[in-house]
Amino acid sequence: MFIDTHAHIHQHDPDEIAGIMSRAVAADVGAVITAGVTVEDSRKAIALAHGHERIFAGVGMHPSDLASPLTDADLTDLSDLAALPEVVVMSEIGIDHQERSPDRRWQEEAFQAQILVARHHGLPIVFHVREQGDDYDAHSARDVAVAILRESGAGTPGGTAHYFQGRWKHAAQFLDLGFHISFAKTLLRISDLEETARKVPVDRMLIETDAYPQPFKKNRAKWTEPRDIPLVAEKLALIRGVSADDIRRVTTENALNMLGNRSKVVKTAVRGTA
Ligand SMILES: [Zn+2]
Repeated sequence: MFIDTHAHIHQHDPDEIAGIMSRAVAADVGAVITAGVTVEDSRKAIALAHGHERIFAGVGMHPSDLASPLTDADLTDLSDLAALPEVVVMSEIGIDHQERSPDRRWQEEAFQAQILVARHHGLPIVFHVREQGDDYDAHSARDVAVAILRESGAGTPGGTAHYFQGRWKHAAQFLDLGFHISFAKTLLRISDLEETARKVPVDRMLIETDAYPQPFKKNRAKWTEPRDIPLVAEKLALIRGVSADDIRRVTTENALNMLGNRSKVVKTAVRGTA
């Protein structure tokens, strides 16, 4: 089955979870990693994962949610949460240069500090890099992220550039550092992503939905959900000239490889055997 390597489904109304997961399983998505964006939100992600055999948690402080510098107490909390068995990645962390994003020094310090927590626990990191506006060809946030990833030795626990939006040369920077590249539904509409989708090594590609509640879409049926994973897989298959089955097999294998010693529980969800 597929693994949705990045979503925020714990932010949905609790009454929605059963439906979201049954639609996911019907679409052959056997595991969903739901990522926290603050310490408190990470606790909610873990609580959901605790009660569901196909849901796993990420813990982290999202750069856009920093209302003040990340404190030592926050880092201690995140480190305690990172040790729990429901947690499989440090996520969502990163660098965001969009307008009105928080102080860049706070973001850089938080990113660096959380990478160290991830390294301490051997947790892969799933990170966000967003440039100002919609200029995905810009590079300032990416340059900052790459420098921090390199200096902090984040390539050792590994991880992925999530919701990748950029050019091939940008993807190559993350690949050189040992990270995976994760594609979302943006691949269906941004044709400039196709070069990366074609060239990324077969053992380094992942797929995700980044699903979260989208009340701005009036039609509930149009909200992105983990069940949309096959759409991304079919587009990747078309671009690479392989079958969607091939994409499912390799992206699941890649996700399990990335999760390393945290992969065992996820493997049971997608393969039925440990
Ligand atoms: Zn996200």
